[in-house]
Amino acid sequence: MDFDPTDEQLALQDSVRRFASERLNDDLVARDRAGGFSRKLWEECAVFGLQGLPVPTEHGGQGADLLTTSLAMEALGESCHDGGLIFSLNAHLWSAALPLVEFGTPEQQADHLPQMCDGSKIAVHAITEPAAGSDAMALTTTARPDGDSYVLDGTKHFITNAPEADLFVVFATIDPALAWAGVTAFLVPRGTPGLSTGTGVEKMGLRTSPTGEVVLRQCRVPARNVLGEPGSGMMVFDYAMRLERACIMASAVGLMQRQLDECLIQAEGRRQFGRPIGDFQAVGHTLADMKVRLEAGRLLSRRAAWLADRGELTASEAGIAKLFLSEAAVQSSLDTVQLHGGHGYMTEAGLERQVRDAVGARIYSGTSQMQRNIITAGLRAKA
Ligand SMILES: Cc1cc2nc3c(=O)[nH]c(=O)nc-3n(C[C@H](O)[C@H](O)[C@H](O)COP(=O)(O)OP(=O)(O)OC[C@H]3O[C@@H](n4cnc5c(N)ncnc54)[C@H](O)[C@@H]3O)c2cc1C
Repeated sequence: MDFDPTDEQLALQDSVRRFASERLNDDLVARDRAGGFSRKLWEECAVFGLQGLPVPTEHGGQGADLLTTSLAMEALGESCHDGGLIFSLNAHLWSAALPLVEFGTPEQQADHLPQMCDGSKIAVHAITEPAAGSDAMALTTTARPDGDSYVLDGTKHFITNAPEADLFVVFATIDPALAWAGVTAFLVPRGTPGLSTGTGVEKMGLRTSPTGEVVLRQCRVPARNVLGEPGSGMMVFDYAMRLERACIMASAVGLMQRQLDECLIQAEGRRQFGRPIGDFQAVGHTLADMKVRLEAGRLLSRRAAWLADRGELTASEAGIAKLFLSEAAVQSSLDTVQLHGGHGYMTEAGLERQVRDAVGARIYSGTSQMQRNIITAGLRAKA
C-alpha cells in the first residue's frame, strides 16, 4: 500500500490550501459567535469545485476517486479554519450526493446532481428522530403508500444543513410491522407541501454549519422519488454511513497538522523560566503525542478511502477511521489550547473553537460508543 500523493494530488492539495486560506477564513470569530452559515462561501467552494470533486463528470462533477477527494479534504482541514463550513460540505457530499450517485435513477440524478455540484442546491441526510438516534432503524416517520405516491409524516431533528437545504434525503417506513425492512429513502425537494424546517438550533460547536428540524406533515411525494427500492433504506443508509465514516474525518487530519505546526512555533517562541517552553519534557511529550495521533490518523484516513475506492470498505474499517480520528481531534485540540496557556483559552485565538467543533465528531455519524460496537461486531464475526 502506498498512500503517498501523486504529483497531481499534491498540486490539488496546494490549490485547496491556497483557496481556503485566501477565501474562507474571514470574520470567523464573529461568524462563529453569531452562528451564521454563509451561502456565499458555499457557492465559492462550489465554483472552486469542492462539492463536485467525487461526483462523476457526467453528473457535473470532477470524477475524482475517494482517496484524491480525501486528500483534498485533508488540505481543506489544514487551511480552512471554518470547521462548520467543512462539516456542511462533508454532510452534503458523503451522505447525500454520493448515495444519489449510487442509488439514484438517471432522472433523479439529472434533476439534482448538477445543481448539487454547482452550489445551487444544498442537500441533507435526515434519519435521526427524537426517539431514534443511535438506534436509527427504530425510526417512526411513516410513508403511507397512496396511489402512485407516498404520504410522509414525522419529525427529524439535529439535521445538518436543514435550515438552508434545497433537497432532503428522508428516511421513513412504508410499513412499521416490517421493522428495518420497511425503511425507505425518499428525495424530498424544498417546496414540497407539508415539508418544513425550523430556523435552526444553537449548538456548542460547528456553529457556522446550520442544524435543525425537518417536519413532514401529510407530505406527498411521488413514488418516483424513492431513492433505491421501497424497503431498501437500510442499504442506502449503510452505504452513506460507511462512506461518511471513512471520509468525514479527513479534514481532521489537516486540522491536526495545522495544530502541530502552530504548537511547534509556540514551543520554540514562548519563553518561560528563561527558556523556550519546548525545552520542558512535558511540553515535548505533548508534541510527540500529537505527532503520533496525526501520523496514525493520516494512515487510517487514507487507508479507509483507498479501501472504499477498491470496493473493500467494511463497516468496521470505516468505524476504525471515524473513531480514531474523532477522539484524536478532540485530544489534539485540547493539547493545542493547553500549550498556548491562557492565550489558547481566549476566543480571539480561535483555538477554543477547535475544541468545541471537534467534540461534535464523537457524536455525529454514529457516536464513538457505536463505532466501538461496530468494530466489536466485526471482530466477533471473524472469530
Ligand atoms: C453536529 C451534529 C450533526 C448531526 N447531523 C445529522 C444529520 O445530518 N442527519 C441525521 O440524521 N442526524 C444527524 N445528527 C444526529 C446524530 O446522528 C445523533 O445525535 C447520534 O447518532 C446519536 O443519537 P442521539 O443523539 O439520539 O443519542 P442516543 O442514541 O440517545 O445516545 C445517547 C448516549 O447513549 C449511548 N448509546 C446509545 N446506544 C448505545 C449502545 N447500543 N451501546 C453503547 N452506547 C450507546 C450513545 O453513544 C450516547 O453516548 C447530528 C448530530 C450532531 C451532534
